[in-house]
Amino acid sequence: MESGFETPVYITRPLLPDLQLITEKFHDIIDSKKVTNMGDQHHELERQLKQYLNVEHMTLFSNGTLALLLGIKALGLRGEVITTPFTFPATVQALDWNQITPVFCDIEPHTLNIDPARIESLITERTSAILGVHVFGNPCDVHRIQEIADRYGLKVIYDAAHAFGSTIDGMPIGTYGDLTMFSFHATKLFNTIEGGALTYRDPELVQKLNLLKNFGIASEDQVLLSGLNAKMNEIQAGIGLEVLKLVNDERIRRLDLLNVYMDELRDVQGLKIVTATNNLSSSLQYFVVRVVEESFGKSRDWLHEQLKKFNIYSRKYFYPLCSEFPWYYHLESTSSENLEVAHRISSEVLCLPFYGELGRESARKICRIIKQLQAM
Ligand SMILES: *Cc1c(COP(=O)(O)O)cnc(C)c1O
Repeated sequence: MESGFETPVYITRPLLPDLQLITEKFHDIIDSKKVTNMGDQHHELERQLKQYLNVEHMTLFSNGTLALLLGIKALGLRGEVITTPFTFPATVQALDWNQITPVFCDIEPHTLNIDPARIESLITERTSAILGVHVFGNPCDVHRIQEIADRYGLKVIYDAAHAFGSTIDGMPIGTYGDLTMFSFHATKLFNTIEGGALTYRDPELVQKLNLLKNFGIASEDQVLLSGLNAKMNEIQAGIGLEVLKLVNDERIRRLDLLNVYMDELRDVQGLKIVTATNNLSSSLQYFVVRVVEESFGKSRDWLHEQLKKFNIYSRKYFYPLCSEFPWYYHLESTSSENLEVAHRISSEVLCLPFYGELGRESARKICRIIKQLQAM
């Protein structure tokens, strides 16, 4: 019989540099007195991230939600946007704050991303864009989505909060669609504690985004449009520069953990591992399984609760679906007949601890506990 962990084990821990390194950085920033409003750290982080993500155009923001919100505003979207219910609340809230109605589209059972085969039937005269999410770092079917968008003259936006460093047939994920959002929240693979970025196709967007994130102020005498405050400060950017140096090693350690989980859980009846599909390279953001009650013998919710007794805090990502939020009750697209796959998957998904520091032994122990619980 396995006993529990002595200290709580969470699904992730922030990737952070040595305190010593951050302290030195803070010294430089404080001495310079330029602590925000696009200083040296900001410029350097933007330069390095463009290189790392292999993109031409990027703008940094104080967080991913404001990046997405302002990106949608910069593209001038309105009316309805077709999106997925299987995502973090921020995706659809960025639409809400732009007075746009989300139209929920069901997901593919293998990638858990928006199902291109279901998009077309949801398009109306009011549709202005398709907003896909690269869930758990697995890329959407970007080619089919683009093809539909081109046919109907729609914009394409991606929420790549989970997909830092993901590629599609070797191509960087931030180069698809009109605009892609990355989140650098502490829970994400690469983080600036709080932070985010947009990458985009049209180089002209840069001026607009720079205005939007700084109150629309163009010069001492000119405020050109109604923006808000969404600037990444120098402390955030400085920490980001140090964290970026750690990302490649962290990916290697996570790949190692992924192999342990795959080996140990592959043959567990009723557990389906959600992994990267062929030719798609995942970001290793989360490790997710589906607990299929009929064959596993116990429900996802039961397993989630039982794991707590062993000090393991798994998460039900994504449950509830965004289409279940009370302020969307009146929308036709939230009906469960329209979202059958999403509802089923949302009742099965469970995110397990997945971060380099966890180590192989702890991952093996978690797997043994899961098997022990199944046999109860
Ligand atoms: C984290 C996350 C966001 C929000 O990003 P923030 O930087 O926390 O504002 C948006 N969408 C998804 C899918 C996320 O996981």
